[in-house]
Amino acid sequence: MLNFNFYNPTRILFGAGKIAEIGPFVPQDARVLVLYGGGSARSTGTLAEVLAALGERTVFEFGGIEPNPSYETLSRAVDLARAERIDFLLAVGGGSVLDGSKFVAAAVPFEGDTWSILEKRGSNIARALPMGAVLTLPATGSEMNNGGVVTRKATHAKLSFSSPHCFPRFSVLDPTKTYTLPVRQIANGLVDAFVHTMEQYLTYPVNAPAQDRFAEGLLQTLVELAPRAMQEGEPDYDNRANLMWTATLALNGLIGAGVPQDWATHMIGHELTALYGIDHARTLAIVLPQVMQARREAKREKLLQYAARVWQITEGSDDERIDAAIARTAQFFESVGIPTRLSAYQLGGEAVDAVVKALTEHGMVKLGEQRAITPEISRAILEAAL
Ligand code: NAP
Ligand code: FE
Repeated sequence: MLNFNFYNPTRILFGAGKIAEIGPFVPQDARVLVLYGGGSARSTGTLAEVLAALGERTVFEFGGIEPNPSYETLSRAVDLARAERIDFLLAVGGGSVLDGSKFVAAAVPFEGDTWSILEKRGSNIARALPMGAVLTLPATGSEMNNGGVVTRKATHAKLSFSSPHCFPRFSVLDPTKTYTLPVRQIANGLVDAFVHTMEQYLTYPVNAPAQDRFAEGLLQTLVELAPRAMQEGEPDYDNRANLMWTATLALNGLIGAGVPQDWATHMIGHELTALYGIDHARTLAIVLPQVMQARREAKREKLLQYAARVWQITEGSDDERIDAAIARTAQFFESVGIPTRLSAYQLGGEAVDAVVKALTEHGMVKLGEQRAITPEISRAILEAAL
């Protein structure tokens, strides 16, 4: 096991009706900015519930945070928060609204050019406004971690940041809030949470069996939950509750403590979203199977363990079992309607060139747990995904 510092101060209010209980966690005299996305928070009634729970507090609203939140939009929220002397943020939505709100929280008290927060990946954040969250889409884990991803539309740069100042103070996880999600977003959430787990699991062994078994448990749970979660019609409360909590556990720091972490799939995927607007999780489904292939020697031991423990693959030679495990992974993504090839998005060799160029420009030239994925290897990964 590697050394680690584990810190997670986010309070979780979990269950149906929990929005009504946020009162004690927002100061009574706070000037609150409620941030939300393109309209689902309003049309589903969640926004009204949140406003009711805030009672007599002074509340401002900022709507219109788009999927893959843009620096341009968030900068308008920063201006509003500064002008109105906001001192508490409440994010209502999916990962995009939560990530965007974390950026606003850090940017409001920041002196100087707020884009440098992204350029320096958050290392220059010295303080942030306190924030809470009401999650409506299980996927990213943003509700219980300190990271975010922001896109500068003008330059197609999608960059991540993190800071110990950016944990939400609290997050409400009400599984009934997921009932209005289109199946496309349920599928995205299943795949994003699966890949978060893989980024922290499928590396090399460091003798951390509890971490391995936590990760294997989350992966198997996602596979088990998927068919019911994807069904049209009346949602199943327990299925959604378990999906919500599994996605949170996949990226709240717990399974990543004391183990190597990869994140190459996410870094390559971010460029695909920034350049072509493909949903975050859909980029991961394209990249991960080919990262597994390209790094099969370095990841050999964990690939064999993954094959046996997550997919019960026990027949055949080592290489056959690894091939079968990679195939099962891709099949799982396809089973929830998510393609695993660039050609599904009408992208070819030019896209590969563009992504490799963007990775290089963003300094993503030594990716993965061994820092071994050079732009040439990223190119091979993307070419294999054509
Ligand atoms: P999202 O971009 O927040 O939301 C996707 C869509 O779902 C939006 O159109 C939104 O509509 C809709 N939606 C959300 N909740 C809904 C509900 N209850 N009912 C109906 N529609 C609903 O999706 P996401 O996958 O959660 O977030 C993706 C972003 O998170 C990406 O930028 C990704 O890079 C980032 N990310 C962050 C982390 C992290 O650790 N912080 C990890 C992985 C990914 P409205 O806009 O109308 O609300
Ligand atoms: Fe992700």
